[in-house]
Amino acid sequence: MTGRDYIDRVYEQVVQRDPDQPEFLQAVREVFDSLPPVVDRHPEFEEAGVLERLVEPERSVKFRVAWSDDQGHVHVNRGYRVQFNSAIGPYKGGLRFHPTVTESVVKFLGFEQILKNSLTGLPMGGAKGGSDFDPKGRTDAEVMRFCQSFMTELQRHIGQFTDVPAGDINVGAREIGYLFGQYKRLRDEFSGVLTGKDMTFGGSLARTEATGYGLCYYTAEALKTLRGDSFEGKTVAVSGSGNVAIFAIEKAGQLGAKVVTASDSDGYVYDAEGIKLDVVKDIKLNHRGRIREYADRVPGAVYRPDCSGVWTVPCDIALPCATQNEIDAKSARTLVDQGCTVVCEGANMPSTPEAIEIYESAGVLYGPAKAANAGGVAVSGLEMSQNSQRLEWTFDQVDQRLKEIMVGIFNKSYLASQEYDRPGDLMAGANIAGFMKVGQAMVAQGLL
Ligand code: GLU
Repeated sequence: MTGRDYIDRVYEQVVQRDPDQPEFLQAVREVFDSLPPVVDRHPEFEEAGVLERLVEPERSVKFRVAWSDDQGHVHVNRGYRVQFNSAIGPYKGGLRFHPTVTESVVKFLGFEQILKNSLTGLPMGGAKGGSDFDPKGRTDAEVMRFCQSFMTELQRHIGQFTDVPAGDINVGAREIGYLFGQYKRLRDEFSGVLTGKDMTFGGSLARTEATGYGLCYYTAEALKTLRGDSFEGKTVAVSGSGNVAIFAIEKAGQLGAKVVTASDSDGYVYDAEGIKLDVVKDIKLNHRGRIREYADRVPGAVYRPDCSGVWTVPCDIALPCATQNEIDAKSARTLVDQGCTVVCEGANMPSTPEAIEIYESAGVLYGPAKAANAGGVAVSGLEMSQNSQRLEWTFDQVDQRLKEIMVGIFNKSYLASQEYDRPGDLMAGANIAGFMKVGQAMVAQGLL
């Protein structure tokens, strides 16, 4: 049997088992399409059933989260934690609170996290969790009660040496604080059980900036090596206005680019003069407002109530930092037709498979999410190290390590793409390099 036959057979089993999980199937397909030459060269993966095991979470919990709003009305949401793979370290991955969260979404994110965490070179397995809870319009007190109820169940499944959650969409410092407080209360234990903590109780400097900064470090390295180019003088389109987008805008600006867009789920703003980050930070970080306010505050800026319209703005580099499948074939075609030659992903799986095909045929430099946005979880890994050491590193120390890790991820991916006859295909390279370490660890540890 060839590697391709084995892979197709396993993929068929996943389709049979989870036919109603489109996001998960999409993530598996993309990884599997990169692996035939690896399986051909390494028969031990098929002999040990590594792919069959890789696509099935080691453990998955789904639980009720009951909480009451400020008027005393009771609400019930669904909570999830998918502990996907612990071959190379304790489970690690974020929590997402968003109405679109389903088992399929949590599983695609958890699956991506396995290879992303492997690429960082740090000892972290893959996991993800979250809830369909929508924090939009909720008061601090309501969010706190939700987080406390969520952690009341989650705490029995996690621990500093077993599973270390962090943030993701709508889970930031405020939520991590409430979750940590409840864990400590219930377990009477002060440990690094969560990352993304505030600096007053064991957080790491540069964790907030890490995903956005890391995205730009990775992109800069790819531009330098593959194109002999840089961010200097480039026009950049960024989607999103959360933690990832804000610090991608900041770093791209520091590296000499002009970022002209930001967005949220209602629409996008275009500022030909370059996005004023202090205004975005004030709107989003200080009072949790909507991005449309930007156009009220900055003369000359334009707001359009259509979030995918952000990809109609001419740019040299696109950094999608909002959410999954935000760039479809139509948006990818428009981007390319208007001169965009680089797409690096800050969000998880923001490009549909059809969009990726368009990048490939147009020769776009494409940096896939699991490599390009690994900076966030990498600094989470560094936060775990600092917690274990009972030490706090300086901002520059962490930032320097982050830079090294992102350059390392680019190099590993590029090298793997060359070794497996897809030179410069950074998606195949990331999938192969990420998989090799996990696959080898699974074989070495025997059947489990
Ligand atoms: N949610 C982030 C990601 O998608 C970070 C996870 C973490 O720090 O554990 O990688």
